[in-house]
Amino acid sequence: MVLTNQLDKLLMKVEKPGRYTGGEWNSASKDLSGIKTRFGFAFPDTYEIGMSYLGLQIIYHILNKKDSVFCERIFAPAIDMEELMRKEGIPLFTLETKSPVKDMDILGFTLQYELSFSNLINMLDLSGIPFKSAERTKEHPFVAAGGPCAFNPEPLADIVDFFMLGDGEEILPEVCEAHESWKMSGREKEEFLKTLAQIPGIYVPKFYTPVYEENGTIRSIERNYEKAPLQIEKRIVEDLNTVDFPEHCIVPFIDTVHDRAVIEIFRGCTRGCRFCQAGMIYRPVRERSKDKIKEIAMSQIESTGHEELTILSLSTSDHSEIEPLVQELMGVCRENNVSLSLPSLRLDSFSFKVLEEIQGYKKSGLTFAPEAGTQRLRDVINKSITDQDIYHAMEKAIELGWSNIKLYFMVGLPTETFEDLDGIAEIARNITDLNYRITGKRGRFNVTISVSNFVPKAHTPFQWFPQDSAELFHKKHQYLKDKLKSIKGVTFQYHGTEVSYMEAVFARGDRRLSDTLIKAVELGCKFDGWREHFNYGLWIKALDETGIDPDFYACRVRSFEEVLPWDLIDSGVTKAFLLEENQNAVKGSQSVDCRRGCIGCGINQRVNCTMEGTL
Ligand code: SF4
Repeated sequence: MVLTNQLDKLLMKVEKPGRYTGGEWNSASKDLSGIKTRFGFAFPDTYEIGMSYLGLQIIYHILNKKDSVFCERIFAPAIDMEELMRKEGIPLFTLETKSPVKDMDILGFTLQYELSFSNLINMLDLSGIPFKSAERTKEHPFVAAGGPCAFNPEPLADIVDFFMLGDGEEILPEVCEAHESWKMSGREKEEFLKTLAQIPGIYVPKFYTPVYEENGTIRSIERNYEKAPLQIEKRIVEDLNTVDFPEHCIVPFIDTVHDRAVIEIFRGCTRGCRFCQAGMIYRPVRERSKDKIKEIAMSQIESTGHEELTILSLSTSDHSEIEPLVQELMGVCRENNVSLSLPSLRLDSFSFKVLEEIQGYKKSGLTFAPEAGTQRLRDVINKSITDQDIYHAMEKAIELGWSNIKLYFMVGLPTETFEDLDGIAEIARNITDLNYRITGKRGRFNVTISVSNFVPKAHTPFQWFPQDSAELFHKKHQYLKDKLKSIKGVTFQYHGTEVSYMEAVFARGDRRLSDTLIKAVELGCKFDGWREHFNYGLWIKALDETGIDPDFYACRVRSFEEVLPWDLIDSGVTKAFLLEENQNAVKGSQSVDCRRGCIGCGINQRVNCTMEGTL
């Protein structure tokens, strides 16, 4: 069944029909008669956000290269479209063939952010697929998930059939091959899941049962299928130069958040910030070579017609060939009349030289992330930026004419005191004074202090620390507001505490939260990552009705002996290392960037660490 005719009628009535039409340049089309696995790649947010996500392009490309697999895209419809679909009884559909999602063999969600869990469930509802794995039959697709939030998959354990941990390039083709064999065998659904459980990197939650203590903590996690592994090791692409990267990316018809050609220049990070989940779970650092990046850049520009090219990584300046790479990419862009954008640059003299050459940067302002206001707290979190680095970069920026500077900080970090908040205000004041000293003027110069709230994440050295209470966050925000309002030319922005609180609940939650998530969606929660849609009252109601105390997950200190809900998942970084880093944080002692020498995180037991000691 295809839904093209029914959809055509709706498209005339919705805000952005281009979100639902598909058929974009470079999108895939296949003859379904030869397809053994129909894979629905589901992004639990709108088209504009999903199409800006590089992982979608990578997975779409990898899967559609296989003749027997057809990967189609599925996005969450915006509120106006969803209302019409529900009214007309039209189920959620794929963009490529306008098929109902229910017709897919595997429905694979990417989980980028905990607050998108409600959209995953809402999308199942719109597809007519039962929420819980146990309620689904052979008539329904297998529901899968991957991405960073799969590293604590437990809140979705009753909902998702299997999780894929680590690099999709490695694991997805194997899942599709296993599916093809299972489909041909005609065996029961359970048999496919049993096969998957034995593929490295796959976690099938139904094969494990947590046993709880009276106080609600986990006593143990028991296996109920003897061949399910005791630890699920994430999959790792060892050499990025050997895996395919999309050169013919899909080009959307409508504006998306990032409308540009994009190349991932490396995966992983060696810096070891102790709050950062990405810095731990994407280890080790694997670089794409300069020549390979240049080759992809030229091909992408030619095949997409994009007018902007960007390079992506967790810390752009850390690529070992960054200077020649940027010089050569600037050449490619100049020749093709394409602009180059370089996010996450360290603000050193090379970067300023490059930023000067690239047009348009001054308009968008300069961003910098010291994360904490004092050297003491930056040592605790292992952010290797000194006061001198900050002022040096700001001095250079002001001299070069930047007049709009944005600094990112976090509040609620472990061991934080009000003196650390004073440090944020002091930095803001010193930068405005610096501007006055250099330019002799105060007007038209703005420093924005943007503050987010610390959310402890699984698989980080800070995974045992509690989140601040809402009251304490409010007090800290107010304190900063009062301090900053007296400084001319400073704007203060901060994140809402309620969103961060819910994020903390699910980031370190367990499978007792599956019912809470379902209840929240039944009450109307969706698009919770969007400020205008997040409804805290409904979340509290859902928690209350399912008997969950959110503080148990968000604000409790976890003991080092406690069994953590994600202990089954092995990111390659050992728990012993995380513990040691936690203790180093408490002592205020910094650990070196592993480019200066290995500090023993454990990932090199699994694969080669090529960046080790390269500085
Ligand atoms: S094994 Fe050593 S060098 Fe490699 S990422 Fe871990 S700490 Fe760094």
